[in-house]
Amino acid sequence: MSELTGWGTEVVIAVCPQCDWRYIVPEGKMPLRCPHCFAADLEPVTEGMEQLPYLRPPELAAPFTATKTVADERIEKFADGIPFAPRDLNPEALRSRVQPLYLPMWLVDGDVAATWEAEVGFNYNVVSHQERYSDGSGWATREVEETRIRWEPRVGQLERHYDNIVAPALEQHAAMEQALGVYALDNTQPYAADILERALVRLPDRAPEAAWADAVPAFQAAAGEECRQAAGADHIRQFRWSPTYTGQHWTLLLLPLYATYYLDDEGQPRPVLINGQSGRVYGVRRASMKRAQHTAMIILVVAAVLFFLSLVAGVAGLAVPPLIVIAGIGGMLALCVGLGAIIPIVRAWQFNRKPVETL
Ligand SMILES: [Zn+2]
Repeated sequence: MSELTGWGTEVVIAVCPQCDWRYIVPEGKMPLRCPHCFAADLEPVTEGMEQLPYLRPPELAAPFTATKTVADERIEKFADGIPFAPRDLNPEALRSRVQPLYLPMWLVDGDVAATWEAEVGFNYNVVSHQERYSDGSGWATREVEETRIRWEPRVGQLERHYDNIVAPALEQHAAMEQALGVYALDNTQPYAADILERALVRLPDRAPEAAWADAVPAFQAAAGEECRQAAGADHIRQFRWSPTYTGQHWTLLLLPLYATYYLDDEGQPRPVLINGQSGRVYGVRRASMKRAQHTAMIILVVAAVLFFLSLVAGVAGLAVPPLIVIAGIGGMLALCVGLGAIIPIVRAWQFNRKPVETL
């Protein structure tokens, strides 16, 4: 339990029985709906805490620079323009369920000593000539300039300190980053307990030891880029090195987002996520096939009524011949309206085939 100290207030761990996400919650705040899947209420975790990868409070938090007003506007845009939207997919419902949330991410600093080798590339321009024939003016010579790269091998040694290398604190880090975009890390603030009053905090499911393997390529990329700059080159490839890492220092950082949801045709919650910094929205926008089918049924009923009236006019036409013409027109109209019933279904179906987009 000692690991749960340092949060600045009394906290408990809560887990979602549906998606298994774990959160830090101020004591007395439950019950709460899981802001990741919205399919279940969170349950307090009372045992097995020593098996959780990391329970200490974060050092830093990126602030919610996208205000609630911005989030509201983005929600409006998200709900707009969906043909036959499910009844629950409306700005009011989405806005009323917004839950601010923080996701964890690791930053690691460290010293690296290494020998390295690579090929560095320098751009140079080549002028060549192209002969072209056209009917009007015959043969003409055109000067063409193209950029090529000259590659040279390089070796060297480096001894460097690198700051703020990003490493995932969540298994779903890559998926979340794809959904929400990359966060800017230039105005982070020290963690303070009042953060917990405003938002739920997701616990890391990866400790530094597990996240280290993902940080290594980022160290290598940073080193490769530096070697390119040191060589004054435009490109670098085949960068190989034998690094020795020392003095790693890990910082846990929180990233802000808003989460909300709507219920689809089947009554299942569909989460909608909004980046708390950029306002970027991620969520599945789906038309309701039920509503499309309902509209199609109404159109079919109208067509059937028209057809029936035309039939009556047709029978009456046996006695009053001009009515035959009206019956004919009515019959055609009924056919057209009836065929039109397919339109709502096709529109909803086409919309639902579109890939998930970020707004
Ligand atoms: Zn959940």
